[in-house]
Amino acid sequence: RTVLRDLTQLQPHNLVDVSSVNPDLPVSDPTIFQKRYLKKIRELGEGHFGKVGLYCYDPTNDGTGEMVAVKSLKAGCSPQLLASWKKEIAILKTLYHENIVKYKGCCNEQGEQMVQLIMEYVPLGSLRDFLPRHHVGLPRILLFAQQICEGMAYLHSLHYIHRDLAARNVLLESDRRVKIGDFGLAKALPHGCDYYRVRDDGDSPVFWFAMECLKECKFSFASDVWSFGVTLYELLTHCHPALSPPAKFLEMIGATQGQMTVLRLMEVLESGRRLPCPSGCPCEVRGIPCPISGTPCPINVIHCPVSVPMAVPVR
Ligand code: ADP
Ligand code: MG
Repeated sequence: RTVLRDLTQLQPHNLVDVSSVNPDLPVSDPTIFQKRYLKKIRELGEGHFGKVGLYCYDPTNDGTGEMVAVKSLKAGCSPQLLASWKKEIAILKTLYHENIVKYKGCCNEQGEQMVQLIMEYVPLGSLRDFLPRHHVGLPRILLFAQQICEGMAYLHSLHYIHRDLAARNVLLESDRRVKIGDFGLAKALPHGCDYYRVRDDGDSPVFWFAMECLKECKFSFASDVWSFGVTLYELLTHCHPALSPPAKFLEMIGATQGQMTVLRLMEVLESGRRLPCPSGCPCEVRGIPCPISGTPCPINVIHCPVSVPMAVPVR
């Protein structure tokens, strides 16, 4: 009752607008992070375009800060890269799924146009780094594969394609949950259009690409499914470096460089050759029929569980 009386005695002219006292207080927008409160702990990883670090965000400076992952573009990037970077942030902002890394906000560097992306920190890092160093049994591997499918199905339901699904871009939160990260190459697919043609294929992760991506730079939901097949291969080989998709395809192709690698890779795939079936792959997984042709996957081919073998329908 005392509280109620105190509250009713409050008059508008007695109230202080907290935001006018300290404009930095996160009352206005909790997704804006102030650079000066971000304390770097360590590097987390580096990919083709970005650098990711672990930071502690502690605006009250009393040790109660939270751990966040901060991604910035590498220096000296092109305007096109900057544009896809802004798209990555815009896309990640709209995604809410337990198997997709969570967007927390942005940090604008003062005096610069560069924006840093603030994400939740996924403590166990990428599957590519984790799996070769820890024993993870088959049931867990299949659970992770299922979670990747769930995250991807959600992404596709919003008409986004990922284009860079690979074990290096799947993060491990705990021993029972993975999250898809790295939306740098993700693109919104216009409605009524089932592929996206890339203009600049300079730095593409070609060994995860379906044939039509290599041949015509056509990316679609189905080409994401192909990359899922390659990711599943990585999971089933525990991301062993000697068995990686680039290592295995390069064994088939022989020594080449640059565009020649892409041409040879296309020839290999066109002739029907595929990544070898991993030794621990259960026959149930290998036997899942292709959703397009309906035929079980031929021996030595990993298209599990739903990868699309050849070109996808194009409108
Ligand atoms: P790029 O676009 O340059 O490939 P990524 O977003 O894939 O950058 O990040 C590079 C690496 O940083 C990842 O492979 C992973 O090891 C690490 N990383 C990225 N995001 C996180 C995160 N939220 N939590 C923990 N580690 C991360
Ligand atoms: Mg990456």
